[in-house]
Amino acid sequence: KDTIIGFVGLGHMGGPMAANLVKAGHHVRGFDLVPAALEVAARAGVAVVGSAAEAAADVDVVITMLPGGKHVLDLYRGGLLAAARPGTLFVDCSTIDVADARTAHELVEQAGHRGVDAPVSGGVMGASAGTLAFMVGGADEDFEAVSPVLEAMGRKVVHCGGAGVGQAAKICNNMILGVSMIAISEAFVLGEKLGLSNQALFDVASNASGQCWALTTNCPVPGPVPASPANNDYEPGFAAALMDKDLGLAANALRANGVDGELGIRAAELYRRFHETGHGGEDFSAIIRDIRDRSNG
Ligand code: NAD
Repeated sequence: KDTIIGFVGLGHMGGPMAANLVKAGHHVRGFDLVPAALEVAARAGVAVVGSAAEAAADVDVVITMLPGGKHVLDLYRGGLLAAARPGTLFVDCSTIDVADARTAHELVEQAGHRGVDAPVSGGVMGASAGTLAFMVGGADEDFEAVSPVLEAMGRKVVHCGGAGVGQAAKICNNMILGVSMIAISEAFVLGEKLGLSNQALFDVASNASGQCWALTTNCPVPGPVPASPANNDYEPGFAAALMDKDLGLAANALRANGVDGELGIRAAELYRRFHETGHGGEDFSAIIRDIRDRSNG
């Protein structure tokens, strides 16, 4: 409690995360490039400052929640690290390339600070409700130091390993999710062609070895799971644009590490195409419509 926290990136995720830190009794100094984001943050009790460097000066912890690795590295190199007092704990919660996360750690150490990567899952709803899951990469003592802060924004905080390994956990999990959603969708479309109803396939697979989250929670056909986005015209949920981003990071990591990940790379290509053909704002499970359309051509 009473930690002074600088928070840079008050967007869809960062805004509600910073608000939960305030609610937990921390002092938060926030900055974003977008004035509207600053207004929302100010209403939530965040002390708005005029630059990222100002948010990092004289605080205990600096949290970044930015679109991508380039933003994080540009800020770290462009004065954020230099503005902080020695030994400040830098926590990057953005989803970025594992290689970029490792570069970020090196920059933090060279500048005389401490750092962890701490990407999240749980989406905007989890950020608002304070129920995010954090996947942390970094040294034991830094994990200990950051845990109470992360617990104010989430329900689960897992120490995954050293520098960059939090990002590794994030992209490995989302690669499982992206691939399994395609497998489930192909199975439903094949079932439709074979005269197997969606409900019957669901009843069998959800109680058999095909069981997985993509089927039983985020079911890509309307009907079997009333709360899944398919029942609401594929309103996200988890937008296909974000799945495209995360699988792009997974595909980069597969290639960079010489892993023969044919399905992960193919899934990345399919979500990229789906995004680029105008479907980025739909839930990622809407990829079943693409598969069905291509099967009827
Ligand atoms: P967002 O685009 O809503 O927020 C990013 C914010 O960073 C924006 O408000 C932008 O103005 C700000 N920003 C960019 N450059 C800046 C700079 N130099 N200085 C200050 N502010 C700057 O994105 P988001 O949905 O909040 O996602 C943030 C991160 O979390 C991404 O890496 C994303 O992949 C990850 N993530 C998102 C979700 C989700 O459901 N939205 C879920 C899990 C993880």
